[in-house]
Amino acid sequence: HQPKEFLLAVEALTVSFDGFKAVNDLSFYVDENEIRVIIGPNGAGKTTVLDLICGKTKATSGSIQFRGKELTRMKENEIVKTGVGRKFQNPSIYDDLTVFENLEISYPRGRSVFGALTFTRDSAVRDRVHEVAEMIFLKDKLNKSADLLSHGQKQWLEIGMLLIQDPDLLMLDEPVAGMSVSERAKTAELLNRIIKNRSVLVIEHDMKFVEDIAHKVTVLHQGQILSEGTMEKVQNDPKVIEVYLGH
Ligand code: ADP
Repeated sequence: HQPKEFLLAVEALTVSFDGFKAVNDLSFYVDENEIRVIIGPNGAGKTTVLDLICGKTKATSGSIQFRGKELTRMKENEIVKTGVGRKFQNPSIYDDLTVFENLEISYPRGRSVFGALTFTRDSAVRDRVHEVAEMIFLKDKLNKSADLLSHGQKQWLEIGMLLIQDPDLLMLDEPVAGMSVSERAKTAELLNRIIKNRSVLVIEHDMKFVEDIAHKVTVLHQGQILSEGTMEKVQNDPKVIEVYLGH
């Protein structure tokens, strides 16, 4: 009997900041084509978990296996190359470029070996830009300057800039913060489209949105798992209710 192969296997992960364990002996497993949502009160360690996976923060101990590769000893840029994409809360789009150019520049070949931004006029790149633009609802905005997009459209563009690199795991930090109701619904649709080829790991506070998208929810509290399972299961878990309502 072979052990199940997970896309991402986090095991006994711990990070100490001056003796304070922000993430404490944490283990969780993400499947292929899964939308996993991490919830938990402020300071629970959610952001630190994503920082550890993308290599921004180094683990004190434990392991992060991604497609069987150990990430804890890799540098950030090496982790990106294994297929891990991370979107931060602050947009990093180029305001003075068009939607098309923002996507084109994010295509893996769009950067020269010296890290300078270069434009390629390759038809394969153009096709991929159109494909991603369609996915992120910006097909008719390709020639629009990015600074003219709505807040929600800018968030999608940034997701598109990661998607064009075709990551196997996409990590998003509060993707619908500040979005309108219709933009939230479209973001849920977007996530459901893109997991055909990958998994998504999301930090989210908006419980309605969590309910809409999560296959499975991991509730963090003080750097550890308080509860895990379907939204219905964790919502009804007395431990979760106690932490959220403070009874
Ligand atoms: P969350 O995202 O769930 O709100 P964080 O992961 O941001 O929580 O933080 C978890 C805890 O770790 C907090 O108490 C925070 O102050 C602490 N922390 C996070 N990063 C650092 C750091 N670089 N140095 C010291 N403490 C940190």
